[in-house]
Amino acid sequence: MSSTTLAARRDRAFGAGAPLFYNTPLHIVRGEGVELFDPEGRRYVDMYNNVPCVGHANSHVAEAMARQQSTLNVHSRYLHEGIVAFAERLTALHGPAIESVIFSCSGTEANEVALRMARMATGKSGIVCTNATYHGNSEAVGKMTRIGTGQNAAGDVRAIPFPEMLRPLVPGAGEDELREAYLDRLRQAIRGLEEDGTGFAGLIVCSIFANEGLPDVPSGFMARAAEIVREAGGLVIADEVQAGYCRSGQWWGYDVLGFKPDIVVTGKPMGNGLPLAATAASRTLVEGFRAATRYFNTFASSPLQAAVGMAVIDVIERDGLAANVATVGAFLKSALAERKGRFASIADVRGHGLFIGVEIARTDAAREPDMDKAVDIINRLKDRGFLTSNAGAYRNVVKIRPPLVFKQSHAEEFLVAFDATMADVDG
Ligand code: PMP
Repeated sequence: MSSTTLAARRDRAFGAGAPLFYNTPLHIVRGEGVELFDPEGRRYVDMYNNVPCVGHANSHVAEAMARQQSTLNVHSRYLHEGIVAFAERLTALHGPAIESVIFSCSGTEANEVALRMARMATGKSGIVCTNATYHGNSEAVGKMTRIGTGQNAAGDVRAIPFPEMLRPLVPGAGEDELREAYLDRLRQAIRGLEEDGTGFAGLIVCSIFANEGLPDVPSGFMARAAEIVREAGGLVIADEVQAGYCRSGQWWGYDVLGFKPDIVVTGKPMGNGLPLAATAASRTLVEGFRAATRYFNTFASSPLQAAVGMAVIDVIERDGLAANVATVGAFLKSALAERKGRFASIADVRGHGLFIGVEIARTDAAREPDMDKAVDIINRLKDRGFLTSNAGAYRNVVKIRPPLVFKQSHAEEFLVAFDATMADVDG
């Protein structure tokens, strides 16, 4: 079937408007490791998908899934050792303060649990987030999506400007002054919530500010922000849906930015594609939430989630993927950073491990974000067989976030295509 016919059928079946990537949508039929294939067998290197973290069609995960599904899969109101062992293994990946876990099926649900947990524990409802974030699509969690700092003077969610060095809140400020300026906005948001009677329950951030475009953050910002939150009686929620599971080369993004959360939310990569998410915290916080809600989630905490979740961690540990991410990520980031001097449109190269952002800007003196050029680059890279996307507060950041099994040879291949693409757009 032609891609055009399939796209028309899709519009009828889904209703038009369901998003697709690229100028000409990509029709794929098979994946293996970091490679995806179209119906004609054309190969694409996947440099976008973080969900299949241990690779597309990973055999260890597929076998664990099939074995469990053909043995037992049932909801969580029975004793089953697999799910207990998985909860123990997951919490052991954090420090001792993270003791217990509530499983769910999506990052949205896990963030919803985190917000409710923070609100119940503090007896307050005010949440502070950043102004260009995304934490999920439910009514409560979706309220935090890209709310500008100006629009949020009321209600129980307040946004602060995300911290960044490239387009700083105080132009020309040194790093220490800048850190204090961003922290002041946090203090103001907390004060505002207290003054209007909402009260302050907590701060939620993606630990590496992924949806904001992976900004370089003034050093020490998150450690001090966490102290300010706790001094004000609030809780720190780390959304590790994107940042966690070795994406940065370390297990958790909060270690990269140097802070300790009270509540950790994980999702996307946990099940390599099986819906699996978690909200982990101290036993006291989790038990408080359980007592107040008797939370139940039909498909969560199942033997299937446990078997798959275990298999994913097995592969990450067995194949040394954290080290792979650190090594290949460092190589690719420095190779891209070196190209900043060579191609006028590249304004910045940032990121951690195998999560790299290439900021595309206009080439005139203003250096304004150039989303159209970023989109053009992404489409040209796709035509050359490399799949990326765009992200960031201004959607002008070429987002590179391959499965964790991405190798040095893939990075080298990509750089050839990247150079040719940048030569096309920059002349
Ligand atoms: N948190 C972050 C940081 C995300 O990027 C996303 C999804 N892109 C979510 C939460 C929501 O996860 P889900 O789509 O599984 O609900």
